[in-house]
Amino acid sequence: VWSNCLEFIQDNISPQAYTTWFEPIKAIKLDKSILTIQVPSKFFYEWLEEHYIKLLKVSLQKELGSDAKLVYSIVMDQNISKKDPYTVKIPSSNKEKLKPQELNAPLHLESSKVKNPFIIPGLQKIKIDSQLNIHFNFDNFIEGETNRLARSAGKAIAKRPGGTSFNPLFIYGGVGLGKTHLAHAIGLEVKEKHPEKTVLYVDMQKFIQQYAEASRSNNRNDFIHFYQMIDVLIIDDVQFLSGKKGTQEVFFHIFNDLHQRGNQLILTSDKPPVDIQDMEQRLISRFKWGLSADLQAPDYDLRYNILKHKLEKDGMEIPEEVIEYIAKNIKTNFRELEGALNSLMAQSLLNKKEITLELAERALVTLIQTQRKEISIDYIQKVVCDYFKIPLEKVQSKTRKRDIVQARQLAMFFAKKYTNASLASIGTQIGKRDHATVLHACKTVKNLSETDKVFKGYVDDLRRKISAE
Ligand code: ADP
Ligand code: MG
Repeated sequence: VWSNCLEFIQDNISPQAYTTWFEPIKAIKLDKSILTIQVPSKFFYEWLEEHYIKLLKVSLQKELGSDAKLVYSIVMDQNISKKDPYTVKIPSSNKEKLKPQELNAPLHLESSKVKNPFIIPGLQKIKIDSQLNIHFNFDNFIEGETNRLARSAGKAIAKRPGGTSFNPLFIYGGVGLGKTHLAHAIGLEVKEKHPEKTVLYVDMQKFIQQYAEASRSNNRNDFIHFYQMIDVLIIDDVQFLSGKKGTQEVFFHIFNDLHQRGNQLILTSDKPPVDIQDMEQRLISRFKWGLSADLQAPDYDLRYNILKHKLEKDGMEIPEEVIEYIAKNIKTNFRELEGALNSLMAQSLLNKKEITLELAERALVTLIQTQRKEISIDYIQKVVCDYFKIPLEKVQSKTRKRDIVQARQLAMFFAKKYTNASLASIGTQIGKRDHATVLHACKTVKNLSETDKVFKGYVDDLRRKISAE
């Protein structure tokens, strides 16, 4: 079975990748539809899972049917002692080795429990697992027009954490646009350039959960002390703090303390600070202290470059025209882009067909259609409001102020262009107008964009944003 799989795999990746990653594998057991393979190390296993899982899955299913399962057996490297990533060590006279559950490490650092009275919490150097994913590094983070600012701010911070005016760095943008990846990349580079710094990545949901547990067990101070010891604190998806009053309070406290001492904060969110609902004003204003940088939907070049990079990394080759086709049609975000590529490869493997433009067109047709459908009237209104920096209520209201009327007309124009909604329904949804108003709006926009250069600029910008061209 395994040799059939290998043959199949060999046909689908570069010879070099095959020699490196598949030749060293030994098949050791087959039990019904469960195949056990032996791999030389944990790293090897992680690499396979990260890069070749799709290929393995498809090839195995072909041989063993849809119940096929793969079990890895890892040859233990004797030289590497088993390291518990969550073990906190305090390298000082306090030799006690503390083994917290998960990241609740802070709970063991309460000053009353620290035996040596000369250890001042906040000054002792601790070693913690930074929780960073080594695959999300800068080498893998492709630069483009739409992420340049955020990326270069990140680079600057990695050079001088806490030493730039980008504190906090607030990275925001829609789903799948690279916030998490960039946040990890900054952390990794800080560690590389400044090994003495304590870096911690945590997502907001985990932070909230940790705090809830700490409060329940009366360990609130330990929780705070722990976070106060971090030199570079990266918190992903801070929008989850919305509505969490108690956690906002403690986060405010930690934020101030770290910031005051010149420690670096890096925050990500799916929306800009002002748009986070149910968030204390004092926190929102702090989020804006440093630099807010957004990640926008990728343009064609970036989408193309990312596909190229990913193919190269995986040792795959597909025709140039197919890469261009995907880059041209999958516009929303990187997750969709990777998904498209993966599903295309899976289809080609399953059907034993070469990847051609024709196959790509067929394989991706549904994906491309659902993408188009996602443009809703609500979405269009939001983009227009964002663009002109005016609140949605204004567009929805009866006001006849010139700039608002213009935004309203543009929203109507694009709603007509990109949705199947009728004039009447567009009118109802954009501020309760009738269909004649919408019709008039569409004509006005059309005329104006032919005569007014500035206005035409707006229309082009908005079209690009709405359709993620
Ligand atoms: P977000 O956190 O904004 O939802 P992620 O950081 O999880 O997005 O990114 C989604 C996927 O796209 C990840 O696999 C990530 O590695 C990839 N990705 C995002 N931005 C880039 C980039 N600039 N270059 C290469 N890959 C990227
Ligand atoms: Mg994310």
